[in-house]
Amino acid sequence: MNIDLSGKVALVTGAAQGIGAAVARTLAAAGAAVIVTDLEARSTVAAAVLAGMGDSGRRAEFAVLDVSAEQQWQSVMQQVERRHGGLDILVNNAGVVLVKPVEQVSLEEMRWITRINMEGVFLGVKHALPLMKPRAAANPAGASIINISSAMGIKGYPFGSLYSMTKGAIRLFSKSVALEFAQLKYNIRVNSVHPGLVDTAMVDFETDQLSQLGAMGASTPQEMRQAFENYNPMGRLGTPQELANAVLFLASDLSSFITGSEMTVDGGETAR
Ligand code: NDP
Repeated sequence: MNIDLSGKVALVTGAAQGIGAAVARTLAAAGAAVIVTDLEARSTVAAAVLAGMGDSGRRAEFAVLDVSAEQQWQSVMQQVERRHGGLDILVNNAGVVLVKPVEQVSLEEMRWITRINMEGVFLGVKHALPLMKPRAAANPAGASIINISSAMGIKGYPFGSLYSMTKGAIRLFSKSVALEFAQLKYNIRVNSVHPGLVDTAMVDFETDQLSQLGAMGASTPQEMRQAFENYNPMGRLGTPQELANAVLFLASDLSSFITGSEMTVDGGETAR
């Protein structure tokens, strides 16, 4: 069965690269109009994402959005309302990682990761809601919010405590909001997606940092990557496209009875 998102409007955060870029490409290819958002510093990379979309790129546009800046959420939502009249799909994907022993984490670093990973998701849900409610009321299958958490939002991992804290918060925020919207009859589904290690710039950063800490017996980024692959039950990292496929399903009407769920896309990592 082909998934058809024609007529739907989607916004993806942190979409200039990695998982977000794959999600934006996939939603556009399925027929959605996609607002590709990321930091201003990433606008050139985002332009390349749009250019690489081929025909479906005609349905995509870039908007600057630092997810931790409430004013930017407000102005992007005004732009979406002006240009598209509403929003059907929100993918809160933007995130940052901190790899450090907890005793070395400063309060400023803790606030930095919290602002982006947690406040960013809260602001997205809050400011998208006024544009999603009327669309959800008009479509029997409703509207869909997908929050990208992590395997690290389900299980603990050494040297990733602050990241795990924020990703665990996204998991329970998503479930609570899903229940609230169901009770309020908004017809807006809310689910979290939990990637395992996915081959993006974020993993390059992690292999670099963790190997410096000698984690899992690795002393170089290459050894660390190999250790990651060995640790995964399927023996490999995921691809951004594999994540995008899961998001596509949750974004579509095929998942119309799924809300408050946590979808792991991790090669079995969290099944242990
Ligand atoms: P990437 O770092 O490859 O891409 C994330 C994008 O978000 C980058 O373009 C980044 O810009 C941008 N970004 C950073 N801060 C902000 C901000 N304040 N506002 C808007 N955009 C911002 O990450 P991935 O694609 O790997 O990860 C995407 C999501 O998936 C994240 O939430 C991550 O935590 C989660 N995830 C990833 C896993 C993985 O193994 N890759 C595993 C589990 C979860 P810049 O590069 O300039 O910082």
